[in-house]
Amino acid sequence: MTIEAHCPSCGTPSRRKHSHYERRLLDTAAGGQEVLIHLRVHRFFCSNDACDRHTFAEQVPNLTIRYGRRSIVAGQALRGIALALGGRAGARLAARLALAVSRMTLIRLIRALPEPVLQTGPAVLGVDDFALQGWVLAANLGHDLDCWLRLLVLHDQDDLERAEPDTMRYRLYHLPARLSTHARRRHLRIERTWPWAQAFVLAWQRLTHLPVPA
Ligand SMILES: [Zn+2]
Repeated sequence: MTIEAHCPSCGTPSRRKHSHYERRLLDTAAGGQEVLIHLRVHRFFCSNDACDRHTFAEQVPNLTIRYGRRSIVAGQALRGIALALGGRAGARLAARLALAVSRMTLIRLIRALPEPVLQTGPAVLGVDDFALQGWVLAANLGHDLDCWLRLLVLHDQDDLERAEPDTMRYRLYHLPARLSTHARRRHLRIERTWPWAQAFVLAWQRLTHLPVPA
């Protein structure tokens, strides 16, 4: 039972309760069964007169976020599934994990993700890293390929041509797909609902139609 909560706008702690209501949160499954948490949430008055916010709902640390209909852990699990498998296959796996969501919900989760901020691509390699000669060579090759790809096939894809290395990796280099061999032909099955599937296919078609250097 919460006796004190902090206003999300000004951070002032408050003990003055306004009301309470019930919130339902989908959580990760237990024993293969869907888990729905019924949570009694309190609304508090903000005790700071200068604050714009009159009342606010409490959040349970590590469990709830504002307007969220899933527990934080369940949300993380679904985002991980969506990133690894995309919408269609992701929804199938989620259903098996008793976390049923539609494929469009998974796609919305991917689209709502912030662009990666952590810079881990070749661009962050400093000169101090020359001790790692092999890595530098690999990083330079990767960087070259990345530049050529932007120049040759992504020149008219506004959001990709100038994208940060991590954004490129997230959208194009790492995509949910399955490579299979059938009758001596290799098939790459891309998850249709992946938001950048079309961009990948276009890039692939352009690459394979490049003239062979004389
Ligand atoms: Zn406040």
